[in-house]
Amino acid sequence: MADKKEREYVCAYGKNCLHHGEKVKASESVVISNKHYHWDCAGMKQEISDCVNTYMSYIDDKTQFPIVCRIINTLVFKNKVPVEFVKKSIENSRLYYSSKPVQVLYGIRKMFWEKEFRV
Ligand SMILES: [Zn+2]
Repeated sequence: MADKKEREYVCAYGKNCLHHGEKVKASESVVISNKHYHWDCAGMKQEISDCVNTYMSYIDDKTQFPIVCRIINTLVFKNKVPVEFVKKSIENSRLYYSSKPVQVLYGIRKMFWEKEFRV
C-alpha cells in the first residue's frame, strides 16, 4: 500500500458489522447513501433487504415493513440462520406467507434447526 495515511471508516453496519466494528479502509469500502461498509457487510445488508422486499411483495399491509426487517435481522444475526436459507424459504412459500401473520417468519428458525440436525 503506497498511501500509509489512507482514510479509514467505522463500518455503517454498526452492531451487525461482520468484522465486529473493525474499521474499513476507504479503498476497500462499499459506499451506500454516503456511508461506508465492508464489502461483505454491504452484501449482507443487500441480502437482507432482498428477503424483506420479497416478503413485502406478498402482503398488502405495507405498515408491517419495520417488523419484517426486525424479524429477519433477528433470524440472521441472533439466531444465526444463514441469510440464503431465509431467502429460499421466503421465495419458495409465497402462498403460505401471504396468508399468514408476519410472525410466522419466526418459523424459519425452527425449519433451519430441524433441517440442520436431522438424523
Ligand atoms: Zn462491517
